[in-house]
Amino acid sequence: VTSILFAHDPKSAGPWRSVFQENAPDISFNVWEEGTDCPETDYLITWKPPAGLISRLPRLRGIFLLSAGVDHLALPDIPRGVDLFRMSEPGLVNGMVEYVTFAVLGIHRGMFRYARQQASHSWKRDRDAASPVTRIGVMGLGALGSAVVASLRSQGFAVSGWSRTKREIAGVPTYCGREGLGDFLPGADILISLVALTPQTRGLVDASMLAQLPRGAAFVNVARGDVVNENDLLAALASGQIGQAVLDVFATEPLPPDHPFWSHPNVFVTPHVASVFQPETAAMAVLENLRAHLAGARPAAIVDHDRGY
Ligand code: NDP
Repeated sequence: VTSILFAHDPKSAGPWRSVFQENAPDISFNVWEEGTDCPETDYLITWKPPAGLISRLPRLRGIFLLSAGVDHLALPDIPRGVDLFRMSEPGLVNGMVEYVTFAVLGIHRGMFRYARQQASHSWKRDRDAASPVTRIGVMGLGALGSAVVASLRSQGFAVSGWSRTKREIAGVPTYCGREGLGDFLPGADILISLVALTPQTRGLVDASMLAQLPRGAAFVNVARGDVVNENDLLAALASGQIGQAVLDVFATEPLPPDHPFWSHPNVFVTPHVASVFQPETAAMAVLENLRAHLAGARPAAIVDHDRGY
């Protein structure tokens, strides 16, 4: 019997247990609590494996993470024989598409500016605010970035993309690697960050990158705070090089109460809520990957230790 252990807040196990009981009665579903290891465990579901647990599970073959990013883990601590699966599921994708659509439309239609005007009871109409040619550059064309590209395109935006390796998306100019940035950045009136955080992308969005965007461009970060050099972003906001930032993720979370982002008139802050997985659809996605893995397949959600995501 294949055995799966849910090692996360036990109070959140309910929907997972239901999905497994209903759809996989052949799989034994257990919930971990301190001091009650299940040594027969084949697969773990967790955000971060509890300290020492992996070494006490001799049969462990795979870990299903409750997050899309793996930057909170020390990858070298995960044995190579244990496959690590990122969270990739329709609920997470939909949430991200909604958030980015909100940010893009808010910028495109000047809504963040009108919100500021409302605070000072100012009736100032900008009939030209909705420029017909807002060009959007999406950095990161993975599960989330590619869905964002498709959705924005369907709304009529001109979209381009950038990733580590060359991605082909019909009708979308795509660029890759550091050498691709020179062509990609000048065409992005709104830059959206959806890259994985790795040693290569830490501090990626810095003064020199921001300077290559069109003057007054907007920046949306829904990846990880450490992808951005926050001081460089503040300087670009101060100089007007960046006109608006929509930020969901920060180098330090919670964002410290005295951080300048909180009160900056051109920064819209949300508390890392762009997208969360939905337990029911996430459990179904885990089950699908689990079945494929048991059948010997290598689902796309498996993390590549060498590339770090
Ligand atoms: P994927 O692993 O599917 O995609 C990651 C993308 O980042 C790929 O396109 C990859 O390029 C690109 N990338 C990685 N390294 C580099 C590099 N050095 N240079 C250029 N591009 C690079 O991840 P997802 O799409 O599922 O998620 C993306 C990120 O979104 C997650 O890592 C997480 O940090 C964040 N996230 C944030 C949430 C929030 O609520 N704010 C919620 C969920 C996720 P390539 O295509 O060539 O492999």
